[in-house]
Amino acid sequence: NLGNRFQDIMKKVRGHGKLSESNIKEALREVRMSLLEADVNYKVVKEFVAKIQEKAIGAEVLTGINPGQQFIKIVNDELVELLGGTNSRLTKSAKNPTVVMLAGLQGAGKTTFAGKLAKYLKKQGEKPYLIGADIYRPAAMKQLEVLAQQVGVDVYFELGSNDAVGICERGLEKAKEAGATYLIIDTAGRLHIDEKLMEELKEVKKVVRPQEILLVVDAMIGQDAVNLAQSFNNALSIDGVVLTKFDGDTRGGAALSVKSVVGKPIKFVGTGEKIDDLELFHPERLASRILGMGDVVSLVEKAQEAIGEEDAKSLEEKIRTQKFDLDDFLKQLQNIKKLGSLGNILKMIPGMGQIGDLAPAEKEMKKVEAIIQSMTREERKKPEILKASRKLRIAKGSGTEVADINKLLKQFEQMREMMKMFSTGKFPQLPGMGGR
Ligand code: GDP
Ligand code: MG
Repeated sequence: NLGNRFQDIMKKVRGHGKLSESNIKEALREVRMSLLEADVNYKVVKEFVAKIQEKAIGAEVLTGINPGQQFIKIVNDELVELLGGTNSRLTKSAKNPTVVMLAGLQGAGKTTFAGKLAKYLKKQGEKPYLIGADIYRPAAMKQLEVLAQQVGVDVYFELGSNDAVGICERGLEKAKEAGATYLIIDTAGRLHIDEKLMEELKEVKKVVRPQEILLVVDAMIGQDAVNLAQSFNNALSIDGVVLTKFDGDTRGGAALSVKSVVGKPIKFVGTGEKIDDLELFHPERLASRILGMGDVVSLVEKAQEAIGEEDAKSLEEKIRTQKFDLDDFLKQLQNIKKLGSLGNILKMIPGMGQIGDLAPAEKEMKKVEAIIQSMTREERKKPEILKASRKLRIAKGSGTEVADINKLLKQFEQMREMMKMFSTGKFPQLPGMGGR
């Protein structure tokens, strides 16, 4: 399963303290392997990996997030791009009804989708109308009739007919008479693409002149989805793709390839056998599902907004040269505050949402802020000059106790000690700044 593979990769990357060329390469190798294993088209994989590499190497490491999270964000953004950027909706024509023609192999889920789409459109206040034009499987028309009854919409079919084009012609007239706003045409499929099927679909297309031809594809077929979509697109010039059976242990390969190779957007995703198991396709949602990373992405985005790159650079420099002082400490606290409440920050990190009451920690942060703000510039640079009289003055100024100041100074000293080890490579990571 692609999602699991990605999560393993991300776990590894998360553990790294720095985005270096070698650990990026290692992670990219795994990304490439898992995409190929998930049946993503090899050309798509090659381009994808190249883009990530370009962005990840040389990316500035931001404070407030760790390099692994930043790598995830880069992968995520590229995934969203690959999946089609912003989501595309169903067309609505100026004149009723908007004709939606379905095409696809047998068993792909066309008839089921016809019912789901009718329900979806009805909920939007539209008046959908169904046509059953699968003349090869008599049960298909009955199946559509049952679905139509379930949704509460009209359906047209001719049991025993062998004239799909005629059914569509007459059905279109009926739909107009009924004042339908959408006409959904369920067609026949074959086990494989063949000339006869394509000819019939072309004839139907000529007669009903659909605004949307949607290719219904079983997401489980992976790589084959690309060839399939290409053939149907060459013959019919499709407008979009519906991926069915995206529930269960579906590999993401089909979704990842279709858009970039065929250039047609995925519009809907079928997520189960029931009539309500239909979702509009959201590239962002699928990307984060593939990466399995909670809201790390939005955390990174917030961090990027809150903390200027300049700040991040000078902080790194200070840690490296061991010039981190109380002023920098204050700045970091304020940066964290810009990200939102501590609780909200932790909620965005996978597995961290269940942490207990954070109010005391936030109160503590406010106290520390007040203390540092009551210090002079010199005191912030050289905390060692803080003797009893200065501490008393600061306590008064910040509404705290001398004990609070001592506590802060001790913590700060410990932090500096750790940073020293961190920057000299004697210590792998700062607690809370590295992996999970
Ligand atoms: P058609 O031959 O293209 O019309 O395919 P059908 O609509 O008859 O569907 C074939 C089978 O796939 C049926 O058993 C459906 O219940 C099932 N099916 C369709 N869509 C989905 C889906 O999104 N998820 C799952 N799990 N099953 C689906
Ligand atoms: Mg069918």
